[in-house]
This record gives sequence, structure tokens and C-alpha cells, in this order.
Amino acid sequence: MSDVFIRTEGHAGRITLTRAKALNALSYDMCLAIETAIDQWAKDEAVRLVILDAEGDKAFCAGGDIAQLYQTGKAGDYAYGRNFWADEYRLNAKLAEYPKPIVSFMQGFVMGGGVGLGCHVSHRIVDTNSVISMPETGIGLVPDVGGSLVLARAPGRLGEYLAATSLRLNGADAVYAGFADHLIPRDRWQDLMQALIATGDPAPLAAAADTDTQGSYPQMQHWIDRYFGGETLSDIVNSLNAPGDDTDELAFVASALKAIRRNSPLSMACAIEIIHRLRGPSADIRRALELEYRFTYRAMQHGDFLEGVRAAIIDKDRNPQWKHGLDSLPAVAVSQMLLPLGKDTLTLEEDTTMQIAFIGLGNMGAPMATNLAKAGHTVTGFDTAGTTAEGVTNAATAEDAVKTADVVITMLPNGAILRSVAAQVIPAMKPGATLIDCSTVDVESARAAAEMATAAGLQFVDGPVSGGTVGAINGTLTFMAGGSDAAFATAKPLFDIMGQKAVHCGEAGAGQAAKICNNMILGVTMIATCEAFALADKLGLDRQKMFDVVSTSSGYSWSMNAYCPAPGIGPQSPADNDYKPGFAAELMLKDLRLSQQAAEAADADTPMGQAAAALYEQFVEAENGKGMDFSAMLPRFEKRGRG
Ligand code: NAD
Repeated sequence: MSDVFIRTEGHAGRITLTRAKALNALSYDMCLAIETAIDQWAKDEAVRLVILDAEGDKAFCAGGDIAQLYQTGKAGDYAYGRNFWADEYRLNAKLAEYPKPIVSFMQGFVMGGGVGLGCHVSHRIVDTNSVISMPETGIGLVPDVGGSLVLARAPGRLGEYLAATSLRLNGADAVYAGFADHLIPRDRWQDLMQALIATGDPAPLAAAADTDTQGSYPQMQHWIDRYFGGETLSDIVNSLNAPGDDTDELAFVASALKAIRRNSPLSMACAIEIIHRLRGPSADIRRALELEYRFTYRAMQHGDFLEGVRAAIIDKDRNPQWKHGLDSLPAVAVSQMLLPLGKDTLTLEEDTTMQIAFIGLGNMGAPMATNLAKAGHTVTGFDTAGTTAEGVTNAATAEDAVKTADVVITMLPNGAILRSVAAQVIPAMKPGATLIDCSTVDVESARAAAEMATAAGLQFVDGPVSGGTVGAINGTLTFMAGGSDAAFATAKPLFDIMGQKAVHCGEAGAGQAAKICNNMILGVTMIATCEAFALADKLGLDRQKMFDVVSTSSGYSWSMNAYCPAPGIGPQSPADNDYKPGFAAELMLKDLRLSQQAAEAADADTPMGQAAAALYEQFVEAENGKGMDFSAMLPRFEKRGRG
């Protein structure tokens, strides 16, 4: 199930995080789905603003999903984390620079990744119960997702204080620190959202704000500035170790030192350095994210991140063994973490070219793969028959083809072959990659492949096609897709190259369900078209006249108009090529059987589908139809009489 509910209502694009049980922790999938939605709405004139909210009382979003990052990093795979952070930061920048208003409603915990989502947008709403924090230094990271920019712009030295201590802000303090714009009691949020949906105008939000409630940080600001004004972490710690003698001030110092002693010294020192580099009028979200990425890129390999996550959420011993002590952190360690990354520097522009593996280069697969290669993608192919496709480099094995691929596409004869190819390639695919099956198979096989892929941490889309070999060659296929929002978002740009239309039909298997229904109609209409031509012959009606009438009358269909089964009539079709497939009769039989199998399981009455399946079965198995195009039903009817 999707963890984010995306839709439009009135003038608003709406994004609701629905993973309340996990405090709406932000997964890779959620990031990608949100990015796709806001990309679309940026161009959609009907959407005047975006509303970003979350289900549940406890949290708007309690951070990024760090368990997966830990597992991959612990296994020595740093690429997954680096890709995740880079993609998440790209989303943060888009939210900050969005051309339309975005209103975030942030109740409960708003931490780390949640700050990146909700705290850079144009209208940021909190409640008295909101709890905002950037706790990254406690797990060996630095405040990231653009949070370092908010910290650098916070009053006085509040940014250094919050980064080093990871301490929390309530709603009023979040407004004071610059993480939010308006404190508005939560019981008013629903009405405000309805008004935003109805008008598309965020201006009235300011009038609804409670400006009387004050937080506690303004009173502490003079101490914060006094103790956190140093150049480096050790300056700050030295100054905290020589406090004044006022009782309240001593309590402030003691609580700050207690918090600092819990956190990673390397992370705190780097966070302070980043904030100092960002302070000043020229800093912006891009500069902040680029600096943060220097740290996060190195955090697993050279920093305290894996140890920090281990102690906090894996072993939960809360006793991290940091790489450096508070008193023994070499300055060079900080510079090394923040050195420029050269060719790996964060770029916020999307690189849209992909590494694609294409398994099954048959009548359909070969031209589809060629179209992807022509569009600039790097395509590696594999087919057990050794077939090739223009622009595609063949690999020796399926595993070789998929191992570096971002996306693997399969175009295979049937469900059994899909299952065996999925079992073969999934273990060889890289984490986070996407498997798209475009074959026509039974819903169960699609779901089985989806389960295998999901269990291996991959995305899956079933995307069967309609449009035949001509559609595959011309890039005019229709895709019927099933899978998560994020998986569909990954597949969509590729569908747009190979086809003219892609419909997201629902969760995994929904694409195959749509395809089976479509092809049941196709099988029936092709038979009807062929038998009508045979009848027309016997009635002495000229085939061209028959086509001229029917193709513009109520008997028209794709079978008549685009794929006419009569040779020499209508557009070029397999009938003009001795009925060489095209779409083989045995594949049509396969689809009709799938439809009957599905109808049986769903207790659906499909007499026409049943009759079509029986006719194609007879044609393929008893009348030499195998290997012929499915439109070769016409010569079959020509030869037969009524009896
Ligand atoms: P095809 O038989 O021409 O191609 C299938 C290819 O898969 C073959 O080249 C075969 O060698 C290869 N293959 C089989 N097992 C393999 C394995 N284990 N590993 C790698 N490759 C393997 O069939 P097609 O016409 O290209 O159709 C492919 C799929 O698309 C089918 O599921 C079909 O129902 C569907 N489809 C076809 C059409 C059409 O008009 N041809 C239209 C819509 C959908």
C-alpha cells in the first residue's frame, strides 16, 4: 500500500502522508512519489497551491527511514544511501523553490526528513503541540535536508546551539527559530484546508495565526549567543566549561553540555562549520544541500553514521562508540568530511538517462528496446534465442544484463517464463532498482513477481501493452500499469518513450487485469470482424466497400480500422504479409485463456470471451493456426460453411 495519498481537490494538489504507525517516516518511495506529484502540478494550471499534511496526531514526519540506510551501509553498499540522500535533497530543493504556494500543516514530531519536507515551503503551519528538531548529530549525521540553512538563518547563535544539542522546539519556538511561519491551533486546520481548497489563496492563513503564545528560546537567547559564538566546537565546549554563576544560567549550561556529550563530536563540529559557511546573505538552499551532501556522502564510510544508528535504533543500547572524543577531535577530520566531492558533487538537476536491461527481444521487445536506446538510454539486452535489437548491446546472461541496471524490463511469452526469469534476475539486480514486466501474463504471476521484487527491496510494475508490433515500432503503445505510485513514477518516462499513453490502473496486478479485459474484447471483435468479412464475401459485397462502410459506422473497431484482417484493405497489417505475426494466434489464445481463468476465479459471466477462447483453441490446436497472426481467422472462416 502506498504511504502517501496524492490527489487534487478543488484548486489544491494534496499530499497526505499516511504512514502514521511509523510516525510518517519518509521512505525512498514516498520521496519519489511526492516529487512526481509536485512536478506534474507545477505545470497544471488547475492546481493553484499544494497542501502537505499527514495522518495521525503524533507526527507530521519523524524523519527519513534510516533502518534501510543502515542495512545497506552495513553491507558495504554506500551507493544506496548516497542515491537516497541525493534524491531526497533534490526534492527538498524543489519544495523550497516551488513556483506555487505550498502550505504544510505540521503536527507532532517534525524531525530531520520531516523538516526537509515541511519547513522550506512558502507557508509553514505548526500547532502548540508541534515538536521540531534536527537530531542528526545524535546519529552521526549533520542537520541536512536543507536544515542547515534554516539553522544558519536562525537568530544569533541559535543554529549552532540546536545543531550541537539536537534539542527540540515547540510550535512557538519553531516560528521564532524560522522553521515555521504561523502558529495556528490544530482545531482550525480542517476549516483552513477547506478554504485553501475552495479558493486556492493562502493569504488568509496569516490572519488565523496566534501571535500571543511565546516559546522559551527568546529568554535563553543571550546565553545561547554567549556560549555558542565560538569558531569551532571546541571553542563552544571550552566556553560551556567556564560558566557564569547565575543558577538559571548554570542549569542552561548543564543541560547543553549533557546533550552535547551524547552526540557525535565529528558531526557536531562539521555541523557548526557548515552553519558558519552558510551564514550570510548569499547562502541559499542549493548551497546548503551541496555542503550537507559532502558530509552525508562520506557519513557511512568515514563518519559515525552507522555506529550512531546502531546505538539508537538497532541495538538500542544508546552507547555509541564515536570515532573521536569531544576533547580529541582533530581539525583535519572536519575538513576531510567537508572537502568538495569532485565528480560526485551533488547536482540538483535530474540526470534522466538510465541503465536499462531488456530481457526478451522478440517481436515486441526488440523494437521497444530500440526506442529506449534511441531516446538516449543505455540498453543492455538478453534473449535465450540470441535475438538482437538495434542500439542494444547484448549480454551473455540475463544476470549480466541486469546487474548495473536502474530498470529491468521483461517482454516474455507467458507467466511461467516470467516467474522463472524474475527468480533468476531479481537476486542480481541492484538495490532500489525497478523491474517492469510488459508481457501479458496471468494476474497471479504478476503478483508473484511483484512479491519477489518487493521482498528484495526492488520496485515492481506490471505494464502490459496494447498496440501490437506496429505500436512497438512506432512508439505508440498503450501501457496498463499496476504498482506503487513511486514505481509507476519511475516507469512513466520510459512508457512515454515506448508508447503514447500509460494508465496507472492500481496496485501490482491491476495492469494485467486491465490487459486481460482489453484482449478479451480484442479476441471477440477480431472474430466478429473476420466472420463479417466472410459473410460479406458470400453476400457478394466487395471487401473495400465493406471496409469503407464499417470503418466509419457503428461496427468499427481497432480490429477493423487499424488491423484489418482482409489483405489489401485498410492500413498495412499482417494480412498484407501472409498473416505472419504480428500478434500470433497462440498469444491471443493465451490471453483469452487468461481471461477465462480470471473470470472463473472472479465468478464473472463471459460467454463471448468463452466462445472466442474456444474458437482460437480450435484454430491453433486443430487447424494449423499456430504461428499465424491472430487475424488469420479470416481465411479460416472463408473456407468454412455453416455446418
Ligand atoms: P515473442 O515470442 O516474439 O518474444 C518473446 C521473446 O522472449 C522471444 O524472443 C524468446 O526467445 C524470449 N524468451 C523466452 N524465454 C526467455 C527467457 N527465459 N529469457 C530471455 N528471453 C526469453 O513474443 P512477442 O510477440 O514479442 O510478445 C511478448 C509478450 O508481449 C507476450 O506476453 C505477448 O502476449 C505480449 N504482447 C504481444 C503483442 C503482439 O502483438 N505481439 C501485443 C501485446 C502484447
